[in-house]
Amino acid sequence: MTLASGSPTGGGAGSVPHSPSVVAGAAGGSHTGAPLAFATRGLRKAYGSTPALVGLDLSVPQGIVYGFLGPNGAGKTTTIRCLLGLIRPDGGTMELFGRPFTARERHRLEQVGSLVESPAFYPYLSGRDNLRVIGSAGAATPRRRVEEVLELVGLSDRAGDRVGGYSMGMRQRLGIAAALLSDPRLLVLDEPANGLDPAGIVAMRETLRYLAAQGKTVFVSSHILPEIQQLADVVGIIDRGRLVREGPLDRMLGETGHVRVRVPPEATGAAREALERFAGRDAVWEGAAQTDDGWITVRVAPSRSGDVNRALAASGIYATALESGSDLESLFLSLTGST
Ligand code: ATP
Repeated sequence: MTLASGSPTGGGAGSVPHSPSVVAGAAGGSHTGAPLAFATRGLRKAYGSTPALVGLDLSVPQGIVYGFLGPNGAGKTTTIRCLLGLIRPDGGTMELFGRPFTARERHRLEQVGSLVESPAFYPYLSGRDNLRVIGSAGAATPRRRVEEVLELVGLSDRAGDRVGGYSMGMRQRLGIAAALLSDPRLLVLDEPANGLDPAGIVAMRETLRYLAAQGKTVFVSSHILPEIQQLADVVGIIDRGRLVREGPLDRMLGETGHVRVRVPPEATGAAREALERFAGRDAVWEGAAQTDDGWITVRVAPSRSGDVNRALAASGIYATALESGSDLESLFLSLTGST
């Protein structure tokens, strides 16, 4: 059975969370001025002695795509599991559509659709019949709704084919269709682009953007930074269980930038020292995810690339290549120190 869920009954096994303690005035304002779909304040969760969330504050505005980013082990899945009622937070508060969200309010998960693991379907049934089976599990889903969600995710043409013959991208889209059956206001997707080929990623992006344009809130966790950069309106970056930055992507990117230089390998150490003197130790790191040895990245505005070059030249080092830009990757690296 699919792990996609448009209702609390389909969300998989897990204990019903008890009410985390309520802090007065929990949810604050949003970064876009829109009311919030989901918010956490001081959310805490540990697995035995392993802290996963240590006071997480998230504000997810309504009607946008929210990109939820963090390095491995940052606490993304734990946050999503708390939101979906699959685990019980140790403390802090959650709000759903402006109201405290506790175990007693679990019925409000009807407003949330989710795709939290690779969806599993009956391979010998068609996509349409899989959705009908899922739709019959909770409150009866009208047949017309099945056709609507198939259309929404671009699967109408293949809806009569057996799921066993679907590509990974088609299964993911069917998973989203299943999550949309109950017409949720908030759609939560954990790493939806995992395992998709480039065409599948583009199709997924178009579907999610379309849903946000229809007024849905789409909360997407991902490791794929360029993908989030193309998809999200608002980004939250977490590290070691707490928020390190949150805001509209455009504004965030406007505040950040990088200049990358490539130097001869034997000059890397001296170049790094020169650039640390220029920009500060925390602003300099070697390498970049998609480049090879000899590259050093400096977190400065792209307009300062000439100054970076001069700082190197003043130490007798000449860059063999230089590039600059403003992207989510450099911001992510500078905030989390991850590669
Ligand atoms: P990833 O991107 O690697 O999936 P994540 O950001 O989703 O990571 P979580 O899976 O929420 O992070 O993990 C947060 C922390 O909690 C990590 O230190 C992880 O090892 C730990 N953790 C998560 N689930 C469990 C569990 N069931 N038992 C023990 N520790 C866990």
